[in-house]
Amino acid sequence: MDIKIIESEKAMSLPKESELGFGHYFTNHMFVMDYEAGRGWYNPRIVPFANISLHPASTVLHYGSEIFEGLKAYRTEDGEIRLFRPMENIKRMNRSAERMCLPTLDEGEALEILLAYVRHEADWVPHSFGTSLYLRPYMFGNDETLGVHTVGHATFMIIASPSGSYYKEGINPVKIMIESEDVRTVRGGTGYAKCGGNYAASNRAGERASKKGYSQVLWLDGVERKYIEEVGAMNVMFKINGEIITPALTGSILPGITRNSCIAVLRDLGYKVTERLFSVDELIAALKDGTLEEAWGCGTAAVVSPIGRLMYEDVEYVINGEKIGEVTQKLYDILTGIQWGKREDSFGWIMKV
Ligand SMILES: *Cc1c(COP(=O)(O)O)cnc(C)c1O
Repeated sequence: MDIKIIESEKAMSLPKESELGFGHYFTNHMFVMDYEAGRGWYNPRIVPFANISLHPASTVLHYGSEIFEGLKAYRTEDGEIRLFRPMENIKRMNRSAERMCLPTLDEGEALEILLAYVRHEADWVPHSFGTSLYLRPYMFGNDETLGVHTVGHATFMIIASPSGSYYKEGINPVKIMIESEDVRTVRGGTGYAKCGGNYAASNRAGERASKKGYSQVLWLDGVERKYIEEVGAMNVMFKINGEIITPALTGSILPGITRNSCIAVLRDLGYKVTERLFSVDELIAALKDGTLEEAWGCGTAAVVSPIGRLMYEDVEYVINGEKIGEVTQKLYDILTGIQWGKREDSFGWIMKV
């Protein structure tokens, strides 16, 4: 594959690592590739990071044809740069594309693009443990007409943002509100696709929760508002009586790569992990009778995020004395250990850049 490179004249470099935060800074270049029906993907290029120009009728602006991915490039202590299960992101992006009638990518080419782009921006991968270069591949429909039809033109891009440690002040359990009014998606909808529209639909509940002092929303299923789905932009797991329970992938839940990795690590450690329908009534019963030992969210950004307080129908419940639990801590240590190269990768999840 021939990727054209146009070097940026800007000589911006990595800001101070302690001041990175998340999503504020961008590297000097971005990857762009165009699609046209009948022609396929063409003109792959790494170009200076800049505003893009869109036709005012562009599909994405009116009908929301947009999907994205999120993964990180990690730097080990001896300077090596690596990705964590990148093929899983590429495969998921294609499943999202299929759902949204956007064109799919050749998986091998997509990996080649990702690696070429990270190599080009390698100086932007920060050095300290917990920091990373966050990679954001995304795709949108880009037809220049208001007619509603299958996408004939699309654009695939990757941007990258150096990010600080998610847990600069230590792993603090978060406060979560169970949402019983708005729903994120329904079965048959777009819940399993990583698309911008799911986020737009989530914002109202998120804002309401935030006003009440809760950092995220725990979603219930869109049909009966009975079964636990996921929390904000993370999947969710509970430890009850020694068993780990996580909602089954019914189609309305995003199949997280961190979720999948947590299940593999937990089973490897000998824990019983069950993926099933898990109702909010069962959860509340376990909170009341003290059998709920730990609860945590899991996703690429935080790895794991312990849940310290849960609010449901105006009653607040405390989990594990608002401290991080033993299993949550173990998952954090093992996954971050593999990602930042402090621990052997016995699962074969690391890809060197
Ligand atoms: C991205 C995402 C997740 C987490 O997926 P990972 O692959 O683990 O990062 C969970 N839920 C939603 C809604 C997401 O968008």
